[in-house]
Amino acid sequence: MGARPSHVPEIGTRFSTLIVQPATLCNLDCEYCYLPDRGRQLLMPVKVAQRLATSIAQQNSRFPVEVVWHGGEPLTTPLAHMRSLLAPFEQLRQDGQVAHAIQTNATLINQDWLDLIREHEVRVGVSIDGPPELNGIRADRRGRPSFARTMAGIRMLRDAGIEFAVICVVTVDGIGRAEELLAFFAELGCRSVGFNIEELEGLNAHRQQVTPDQARHFWRRLWQLSPQYPHLLIRDLERLRGYLDQTRAGRWTGHALYDPIPTVATTGQTVLLSPELLGVDAPAYEDFVIGNVLTDSLPDLLTGPAPCYVAEFREGLRRCATECEFWDFCGGAQAGNRFFELGRFDTTETNHCRTAYQAVVLAALDLTQGGTQ
Ligand code: SF4
Repeated sequence: MGARPSHVPEIGTRFSTLIVQPATLCNLDCEYCYLPDRGRQLLMPVKVAQRLATSIAQQNSRFPVEVVWHGGEPLTTPLAHMRSLLAPFEQLRQDGQVAHAIQTNATLINQDWLDLIREHEVRVGVSIDGPPELNGIRADRRGRPSFARTMAGIRMLRDAGIEFAVICVVTVDGIGRAEELLAFFAELGCRSVGFNIEELEGLNAHRQQVTPDQARHFWRRLWQLSPQYPHLLIRDLERLRGYLDQTRAGRWTGHALYDPIPTVATTGQTVLLSPELLGVDAPAYEDFVIGNVLTDSLPDLLTGPAPCYVAEFREGLRRCATECEFWDFCGGAQAGNRFFELGRFDTTETNHCRTAYQAVVLAALDLTQGGTQ
């Protein structure tokens, strides 16, 4: 995949992505969901949003910080309250220091939400797993399928001319159905689709996992079929194309910094590296919380003493950089997968990195080098 890097990235003390939980409740109850508190509603106080906006101003980035409103389902937040949470960021947004994004199941989209999305130029990501039969596990608390409601929300976005991206979780049921998935998303009208191979994390600890061979076959079909759908960007293939373009142009300079990706709960409690660590208790790491933005700013929390899981993850990155031939493309994947699969952060390979990173590369090599699988 490329020459060994000359250095191991530091965990950054500045952030370009901030994940924020406006509400804990989700109106759906997907079988693979990792969130422990999705059955009860806690709303983020406006004071927390004010502290986050102040933190971004203090950081004074050259590029906009992407503030991702995640959940729970963020659209369970009462609309007036959501407007109050966005208000502290508005001047920063207008000054180009903040860009908002939202990840939603789209079932609660209505005209008022469309107005808010437009006013604040919110980038929309919709979660949908393909045609109805692959969405059966995305059901509500009464076990009713969510597909029709999600499609109604998507139609509203399309009719309003609002672009959206899609995240599709690929389970063992979907991994052999690349053709159908691609045809479905090409028809859906999304700008791009990211295929998240189902991961073992949080409360989702017992479902059958996709194997690396199944994933390799899946990615190979996507490489073969994607030219038929030139208007649909496939995030995972674009990631490899982007890396290859940079190396061929001699612009690849290695992984300098790993984004700490702070995730802030409704209460202001903050974890680093992976949103899936929020709300998780583990004896060796306690609750992963590095502090609360109500008492310390994010820049102060990030420049303070690194918690042991961050130091451990840096050691994991060092091992990846020296041991793994996929390092240059992968950059270490996500910390949470190491913890949930292997119980530690200073480890290297996981099923996640084999299926979501290595298999994408191996599938491309199968086709370019006449691989046999
Ligand atoms: S996370 Fe996995 S694929 Fe990525 S560099 Fe580490 S071992 Fe390699």
